[in-house]
Amino acid sequence: MIALKKIGFIGTGIMGAAMAGHLMDAGFEVSVYNRTKSKADKLVERGAKWCSSPGECAKGQDVVITIVGYPKDVEQVYLGEDGIIANAKEGAYVVDMTTSSPILAEKIYNVAKSKGINAVDAPVTGGDTGAKNATLTIFVGGDETSFNALKPMFEVIGKNIAYMGAAGAGQKAKMSNQIALAGALAGACEAFAYAKAAGLDINKVYDTVSTGSAGSVQMTNIVKRGLDGDFNPGFMMKHLAKDLAIGNETGTAYGTALPILAMVLSQLRNMESQGKGNEGTQALLKYYNVTE
Ligand code: NAP
Repeated sequence: MIALKKIGFIGTGIMGAAMAGHLMDAGFEVSVYNRTKSKADKLVERGAKWCSSPGECAKGQDVVITIVGYPKDVEQVYLGEDGIIANAKEGAYVVDMTTSSPILAEKIYNVAKSKGINAVDAPVTGGDTGAKNATLTIFVGGDETSFNALKPMFEVIGKNIAYMGAAGAGQKAKMSNQIALAGALAGACEAFAYAKAAGLDINKVYDTVSTGSAGSVQMTNIVKRGLDGDFNPGFMMKHLAKDLAIGNETGTAYGTALPILAMVLSQLRNMESQGKGNEGTQALLKYYNVTE
């Protein structure tokens, strides 16, 4: 087994920039690539090596980590021209931490395997705060030997790191997470819509309800930001819509009815159609007219 020292990190957005920073702090040699170069500037100033393509970022690395936007981005950086699979060395680990399709995760695993490359899907939960504080939960799918080899590296960025099963199982677990999250988020927004319509002081309702049995991480860490007038994204509504669309498609294939997912997805699509997809998920309060 190779000692893991060199990491190529692709996708230095809200989540990736913080995660790559922790890996640098832990002593890994980190090279970075991102579509918009300026979002990697701080890491480069701190000593990360800038690469001009996913292929260049993958070459010669022990591990390549990706946390980009959508499945189409994952497909492009892994399987596209000058992509990761064409350039990673034999025996390398390639780790997709994007929330993406379990079907695509299986495809990447198989293509990688045919070239002697070890692919795992390892999506995360815990939000921007979890990335900043290195307290993410990480759901891992792929070979258990890969999971064991990567676990010390995952421990640099996460706290609850779980092997979920074969390729795609990490993404399937993450979809379960997103379905629960969607219901908790919409439920909290709807509660404040009721409180407002009933003529109550919303802040008093928050202070009481959030500490009781209806309180939730979504209510305290996310919806509260919107009640305070902050709609900057920790997690963008367009990304939650992407997740729920994947959940919807795969859930249908598995024969499961997901009525809460379907409802929240239609609310998020409505917000996207109003040009609000880049706002944080707390902006779902606007769908309920709790805030403007
Ligand atoms: P983000 O800020 O948009 O970061 C994604 C980064 O990837 C962006 O900087 C983007 O470049 C880059 N990128 C996208 N496609 C690329 C490509 N083809 N080649 C190179 N770079 C590419 O989003 P995020 O919030 O960090 O989320 C990233 C992923 O993690 C998403 O799948 C999201 O659903 C998931 N996630 C997010 C959270 C959260 O709370 N934010 C939590 C768990 C999981 P540009 O700068 O050019 O757009």
